[in-house]
Amino acid sequence: MISEKLKNLKSKLPNEVTLIAVSKTKPVSDLMQAYNSGHKDFGENKVQEMESKWQEMPKDIQWHMIGHLQRNKVKYIAPFVSLIHAVDSLRLLKEINKQAKRNERVIECLLQIKIAEEDSKFGMDISDAAALLHSEELQSFKNVKIVGLMGMATFTDDEKQISQEFQRLKKAFDQFKIENSELKILSMGMSGDYEIAIENGSNMVRVGSAIFGERNY
Ligand SMILES: *Cc1c(COP(=O)(O)O)cnc(C)c1O
Repeated sequence: MISEKLKNLKSKLPNEVTLIAVSKTKPVSDLMQAYNSGHKDFGENKVQEMESKWQEMPKDIQWHMIGHLQRNKVKYIAPFVSLIHAVDSLRLLKEINKQAKRNERVIECLLQIKIAEEDSKFGMDISDAAALLHSEELQSFKNVKIVGLMGMATFTDDEKQISQEFQRLKKAFDQFKIENSELKILSMGMSGDYEIAIENGSNMVRVGSAIFGERNY
């Protein structure tokens, strides 16, 4: 079932779009079904859950932290995390840099941008992200690399609104890229809106329930 859904989904995605299988709350046996069909990119939103799955599973998996990350928990994932999608402050980046250095790694990060109309607690305004990208302190962080942006659209049936929100993010991404050649990833789109996200320039989608089924939590 899981491998079938994954295969179907992948056949619909353009080649340049990376699929992150969002496996939060799902058991390792489910993740292993995806892994055994050749999938290597998994997304989790809780530090402890991701760490324990990392310990149990094959070591060639790329782990994506897609949820809000608290500074005091960065140390648990710094040894192995592949991409942190939801960076929303310089203070958090500073801690990621510190822990990456301890592990002799460079950790790639995305800045989470607030694009949804609904009041979400997380994510930066586009202007704050621009200021962060220009900040001198960032230049001193040798063990983190900002490689793109992430955003979540409003949870609504209004496709036009979703499309407009993704467009705003794509526009900011294109603008930032003029000055920063390291930006290459635009992470937007989930089970309900990944098609709209791709139409609007996403090259990384984070899909959970459409692969693993509904979550009960
Ligand atoms: C849970 C989650 C997803 C996946 O959601 P689905 O609707 O199950 O595809 C994507 N991105 C983030 C940040 C999430 O927390």
